[in-house]
Amino acid sequence: MTRANDNVGAPVVELRAVHKRFTTRPGMVEKAVGAVAGRPARERTVHAVNGVDLAIARGEVLGLVGESGCGKSTLGRVVAGLHAPSSGELRYQGQDVAGLAGQPRRDYVLGVQMVFQDPQASLNPRQRLRQILAEPLAVHRLAPSAQIGARVDAALAEVGLSTEYRDRLPHQISGGQRQRIGIARALMVAPEFLVCDEPVAALDVSIQAQVINLFMDLRAQRQLTYLFISHDLGVVRHISDRVAIMYLGKIVETATTAEVFARAQHPYTQALLAEVPDVARRKRVFTPIQGEIPSPLNPPTGCAFHPRCPHAMERCKREEPLLREVAGGHQAACHLLDPP
Ligand code: SF4
Repeated sequence: MTRANDNVGAPVVELRAVHKRFTTRPGMVEKAVGAVAGRPARERTVHAVNGVDLAIARGEVLGLVGESGCGKSTLGRVVAGLHAPSSGELRYQGQDVAGLAGQPRRDYVLGVQMVFQDPQASLNPRQRLRQILAEPLAVHRLAPSAQIGARVDAALAEVGLSTEYRDRLPHQISGGQRQRIGIARALMVAPEFLVCDEPVAALDVSIQAQVINLFMDLRAQRQLTYLFISHDLGVVRHISDRVAIMYLGKIVETATTAEVFARAQHPYTQALLAEVPDVARRKRVFTPIQGEIPSPLNPPTGCAFHPRCPHAMERCKREEPLLREVAGGHQAACHLLDPP
């Protein structure tokens, strides 16, 4: 495996107080119940991302970790431009993306690409692999048609597939090969930043390691920056320089990967660590995580983790803890960390 964090530098992507809200309309059942009860069913707001500040340096790999439903995929989609923030700023190369037009907007659109969790769903089942890989070049007019075939062959080789795969359909290759095609497709427009949304979660464990190695090799060869999203701390451990832990729309802890694994401060991070097999074998006394993540439609008061936290105090039900510096660059949001 190759690590390439020598060129970590200024932020390429930055989020400043980013919120993403979705409004859900009442369904037929809610409308019917509302009519019987004599009160109209109301729209409800889901606060999927709730005031996130993050800066991802050029050349860095930031692992974004949390359970399903914590808002991490929504955050990834905001970074990739698939959702606009409801408020706050997404900045690319120091500029607010909302204000970009012309060439700077094109630089952002091409410069930030996404690799999805489910390559089966994200690839057009009726297109041959060569068509899937050629499409971004044609759509963005990045190569004359005479060169596209050679570019497709080079892309296949870069992700470890032979040119014999060119004329296959997505269902004619394995899950790991489909994810290689998903990665190759994202790379066709020569991005500098990849949002990787659970890119190995749908793969067998043996294939996961191969795909993670591919991400690491590509990072070194192309000087890429990644936002690497996973529900599994064990997956991000080998690829990330830094980890941010997300719970119910907020970042609750962030530090270098080594620091998180050695000195996790937040009870939620400690619970996630307990689920990483090789950490558990070292017999750390973390309590396995209890219960399920609450609905963002009805978040708990105070610390959102308090209904599941083994250390919850009365204060935790009332008062939301703020993200605070614990040690150099290590931040966590928990009342246990307040000075005495
Ligand atoms: Fe647990 Fe309280 Fe810390 Fe929240 S603030 S993680 S409930 S101890």
